[in-house]
Amino acid sequence: MVQETKFSIPRAHPRYESLKMRELLIDGADQGIVATSGLIAHGRGEAFDYLIGERSLRNAIEAEKVAVASLLLAKLPVISVNGNLASLMANVTVNLAEVTGSLIEVNLFYRSRARELAIERVLKQSGAKRVLGIGSNASRIISEISSERRRVDPDGLFSCDVALIPLEDGDRATALRKMGKQVISIDLNPLSRTSQVASISIVDNIVRAFPRMVRIAKQLKSVPASELEALVSRFDNQRNLAGILEAIASRLTRLGENHQ
Ligand code: ATP
Ligand code: MG
Repeated sequence: MVQETKFSIPRAHPRYESLKMRELLIDGADQGIVATSGLIAHGRGEAFDYLIGERSLRNAIEAEKVAVASLLLAKLPVISVNGNLASLMANVTVNLAEVTGSLIEVNLFYRSRARELAIERVLKQSGAKRVLGIGSNASRIISEISSERRRVDPDGLFSCDVALIPLEDGDRATALRKMGKQVISIDLNPLSRTSQVASISIVDNIVRAFPRMVRIAKQLKSVPASELEALVSRFDNQRNLAGILEAIASRLTRLGENHQ
């Protein structure tokens, strides 16, 4: 499912996919793509994935469909890429950008020249023709945010109407909403500020969400805009998020009962 690693984890291992992801991220950290804090963020995600059952919930799949419709309808959709995403899903990110007509922008919590360039390299090796948010191109400031994390590309996140922000931080998600953007989050934690503040909150692992979103985009590309608009306007994000919490809660209750 995730990209191949140079590590040899036996396929039969019950936690094969999970271990492969860890190895990819450790490899990414060694190459300067993933920040140390990215490894911690992954651990937090893993914990929620255990509670979810390491599969895509029905409400997550629904949110993914609506998110793709929204990307297809957008005038200027942008996919924000950080080190974790580049290490786990660079190829699929480029595919998703292509099929939805989205731009790709590097947007880092801990910005460094070396990390920007390392991520740009991975994306270009995966076929990206243009990568925004590199060096002096990240020249616009989101005024609500202090520190280096506020720099965005004038041609990308600053001007976009729809921003897909996997594994984002709550402050930036909030700031993008305040700027009037439609914000699509992908975050395994339904309680994070990012999930709570997004317009469309996808509570799923990016390694499951992104490949499915590529498949959905291929299907929805030929659907008339009016149908896509109806899909987006019917969607109630708060209700969808509540359904996620209910699904997790009832799964845990069920598991508890089985142990009695
Ligand atoms: P927030 O700032 O939104 O309140 P946070 O501070 O708790 O969130 P961050 O470290 O800012 O968390 O963001 C990392 C988020 O990314 C976590 O909520 C985690 O659940 C999520 N995450 C990590 N790995 C994945 C993954 N593979 N797929 C989806 N989400 C992930
Ligand atoms: Mg945070």
